[in-house]
Amino acid sequence: MPRTLFVTTALPYANGPFHIGHIMEYIQADVWVRFQRMQGCKVHFMGADDAHGAPIMLRAETHGVTPEELVRKVGESHQRDYQRFLLSFDNWYTTHSEENRELSHSIYGRLKDAGLIYAKSIEQFFDPVKSMFLPDRYIKGECPKCGAKDQYGDACEVCGSTYAATELKNPYSVLTGAKPELRTSEHLFFRLSDPKVVKFLRRWTTQTPLQPEVKNKIAEWLGGSGDAKLADWDISRDAPYFGFEIPDAPGKYFYVWLDAPIGYLASLKNYFDTGKAQTNGETRSFEEFIAPSSEVEQYHFIGKDIIYHHTLFWPAMLEFAQRKLPTNVYVHGFITVSGEKMSKSRGTGISPQRYLEVGMNPEWLRYYIAAKLNDKVEDIDFNPDDFVARVNSDLIGKYVNIASRAAGFLEKHFDGKLCETTLGSTYQGRSSIGEYRHIPIEDAIRYGESIRLFYDRRQFGMALRLIMELADKINAFWDNAKPWELSKRFDSPINPTDNQWLHQVASTTIEWFRLTTLFLKPVLPDVAQKVEKFLRLDHALAWVDVSHHLPAGHKIDSYVHLLSRIDPKQIDALFEAPTTIASPSPPPLARRERGDSSGFAGASDREEKESGAGAPQLPLTPSPSPASRRGGKESGASAPQISIDDFSKVDLRIARIVNAEHVDGADKLLKLTLDIGDGRTRTVFAGIKSAYRPEELIGRLTPMVANLTPRKMKFGLSEGMVLAASGDGPGIFLLAPDSGAQPGMRVK
Ligand SMILES: [Zn+2]
Repeated sequence: MPRTLFVTTALPYANGPFHIGHIMEYIQADVWVRFQRMQGCKVHFMGADDAHGAPIMLRAETHGVTPEELVRKVGESHQRDYQRFLLSFDNWYTTHSEENRELSHSIYGRLKDAGLIYAKSIEQFFDPVKSMFLPDRYIKGECPKCGAKDQYGDACEVCGSTYAATELKNPYSVLTGAKPELRTSEHLFFRLSDPKVVKFLRRWTTQTPLQPEVKNKIAEWLGGSGDAKLADWDISRDAPYFGFEIPDAPGKYFYVWLDAPIGYLASLKNYFDTGKAQTNGETRSFEEFIAPSSEVEQYHFIGKDIIYHHTLFWPAMLEFAQRKLPTNVYVHGFITVSGEKMSKSRGTGISPQRYLEVGMNPEWLRYYIAAKLNDKVEDIDFNPDDFVARVNSDLIGKYVNIASRAAGFLEKHFDGKLCETTLGSTYQGRSSIGEYRHIPIEDAIRYGESIRLFYDRRQFGMALRLIMELADKINAFWDNAKPWELSKRFDSPINPTDNQWLHQVASTTIEWFRLTTLFLKPVLPDVAQKVEKFLRLDHALAWVDVSHHLPAGHKIDSYVHLLSRIDPKQIDALFEAPTTIASPSPPPLARRERGDSSGFAGASDREEKESGAGAPQLPLTPSPSPASRRGGKESGASAPQISIDDFSKVDLRIARIVNAEHVDGADKLLKLTLDIGDGRTRTVFAGIKSAYRPEELIGRLTPMVANLTPRKMKFGLSEGMVLAASGDGPGIFLLAPDSGAQPGMRVK
């Protein structure tokens, strides 16, 4: 009996296009899913948009569209993009659907019957102008601890303390600027603290083979064996809200996080109702498929920021609604982007849409990300230089080249036909030119089995490392045999068996290439498909083909182009400010409201918060120097000509930023301490707070104007200025010298 798997990825919030964090998660899940399909498992891979919540409602309003229209448009962009990255979802749906409404009502009804829902009045900030209760992220004020201005209702970004929105001093509504009023409202709660719920969660989280890091996290939340520290969960929001009205509570809506995970089931139901499940070979009904007793295995891939929701709320909801429980929840870390290019393009990160628009191949990214992934809850780093080096050396240098070389000789001398290969025999020896040291067939079996286990355990980096080790062996085999020499003397061989040798080497190499392709297929589905065609295979490569051979006389086609190397120019284009991205929706919110918009998208929450999108335009430094005013609005116009002597009056020096800190009471400034190697430091106040956090500046090198007349400011004396670029769009970009520059060097 083949296994049947129901697999999901976290649902992306439908307020903007995918970002790189989404794509990483989907690649992880997709590689695993494709691998399981190759193993003969029946897989049903579901995705959907997370469409509800206050941020979607407010955003739609800002853009003069209905929330339905907004989520439909964003949904279209998501569907187009997942296909472009070769993600093999079997269905993609939305949480704003009748299926989801029905399932949410049914699950809520069961939880209520189980005595796990109760009502309680809470006090909350209310915007009297907008006539709505405000989620924490829509309230700002002064930090109750340090007094910093313009801090959000849940945490201070200056001193790092967290607090309740009601503790803010001089609070105001981000939406209208109005002073919010404290009002009372009745909310519905899910009794997560109920002893039977806690008992169930202890059991489920112990029995489920969760990752050790995840188990540790849960142990913290569940406390020791004694009393759990779980708080009950507020599952309702007051109108106006974009979501599902609660059946027995008019004017109250399900909190987006209640119906978001139910969206997994809704997408599955839609997949059954539209006949796609049946087309995919499923004979059971939806209810049978998802019954608590069903043998179907249910896996959720998620980011580390939503472990709580998926290992506590979600299983508890399912259990007490008498539904099927997840088999496992696979958690990954975030993706960061590092390197010189990234630091120069501060804040833009990598846009998946831009990646495709500059003509980059999705399989490069799939390979690079897979090579970085393992089964741990670790962050992975995208480094552009490493990306280029790895893809070009592994995929082009080691893998694709094998095929192009061997196929060329087969076509030229043997009508494209393979001979009986020695794969699996013990044959070895010398030709008149080179040495034939075959790779034993045991290697293929051993490699195949190890690679299979690594894929199954989501240790993709290990799997790919082994595949490249095998590719190295094949290349060494090729190089030792020197077939190009044999080919040159084909018409007058030194030794009568030389041509057989050549045939042998080329055929065996093609056979190994077929195996390598099989191993890479979960990661490179398009390339694998081209290879299947080029090798004229009569079926798509599956894992059982590890032990099959191509027969003697099998004819292959001429080599077809499989994959190009990355041109570093494409990387430059990728990191240019994305001015012309055809955004299918308005740019993402500068900040996702934590705790109300779902944050359901793995790494999304963090990335959006750090993106700095929508940062206001600022002058570079408070010093009213002419240079600092240029750029910005006048970027097209050039300044009057100056002589070299004029320019030499400016003493530009490389400075090291030895310290950077916020300035009390300054909205736009950071206080920088600069060292230009002359034995004393200089203080410069720079208007770059919107683009940089102080800690990421410390240690960096940047040019400074060292002979600017010091200027007395409200906050202290500013002894120079630093240089940064800005244009009409958001973003301020501090200049940096190439590596090797030292503090004190003159810039001229
Ligand atoms: Zn503070």
